[in-house]
Amino acid sequence: MNRLFLLPLTLLALGLVAWNTGLEAAQEPHPVIEVHRITDNLHMLGSGSTTGGNIALLIAEHGVVLVDTKNEGYGPDILEHVRRLTDKPVTTIINSHVHYDHSGANTEFPETVQFVAQENIRRHMARTDCQPVPTNCDDFQGENAKYLPATTFSDRLTLFAGGPDQIDLYYFGRGHTDGDTFIVFKEARTMHTGDMFLGKLLPFIDAENGNGGSAIEFGRTLTRAINTIQDVDTIITGHWEVPLAWSDLVDYRAFYMDLYDHTRRGMDAGRSAEEVIADYVKPARFSDFSAALDGPFSVTPIVNYIYKGV
Ligand SMILES: [Zn+2]
Repeated sequence: MNRLFLLPLTLLALGLVAWNTGLEAAQEPHPVIEVHRITDNLHMLGSGSTTGGNIALLIAEHGVVLVDTKNEGYGPDILEHVRRLTDKPVTTIINSHVHYDHSGANTEFPETVQFVAQENIRRHMARTDCQPVPTNCDDFQGENAKYLPATTFSDRLTLFAGGPDQIDLYYFGRGHTDGDTFIVFKEARTMHTGDMFLGKLLPFIDAENGNGGSAIEFGRTLTRAINTIQDVDTIITGHWEVPLAWSDLVDYRAFYMDLYDHTRRGMDAGRSAEEVIADYVKPARFSDFSAALDGPFSVTPIVNYIYKGV
């Protein structure tokens, strides 16, 4: 029988919510990380839909560079994958944005690691009025403030310039949050997009937790990235299970902008958000994209935010 169906039955029978939650958690296997080779030196630590966001792992001359660290508790798994690929230590960790499923294991690495992030990400990590979800700023309080990124930037930063390990970091403005960083591995012609690109799902706009997401800016920010960044063939997205291509990112922007333009036309015509949501029709050319009406990755929150000017 379906586990989702069993759960409410169990709750009814026992009336022991806490006990049942513990049992469910104990029975849940620890989802494993699937590795995708991009080049000899660059790998994606995937399973982004179950283990926390996808990781880019670069074996550089001086050590290993990671983009993101998945959910809390995945530090040992990530280090085990590093050991299978190289003897080199992890020396640099870049966070694509502030969410707990991308920086959850930051504090499980040696404090000698150089942590790098866009300045708004650092500001959110350092907040004391911490929202537990979807931000994990609790992790960086007190003694753990030493894990806050010491290397920050506003719009642009290049690491290991001029050599085979060159990494270019770009910030183009608000979207999923207000710190989303596009991270380009120059020699591998590969980019990590964080959650600015969810593969074939509409984006989640984190506008209600103080993390600065914007449905109005999302498309503009993607457009700036596409118009500025060059020489990228392969994309590691925030959560999609396999690497995608640059052309998929271009299609994603068009998919988003179609919904954005539909919403703007409705506003200009004096129609309500409810009407605009009800008559959205996904164009046939985006048949492989999912555009659910409700839920976190769906039409409804995006249209509502655009109407609210967010
Ligand atoms: Zn996110």
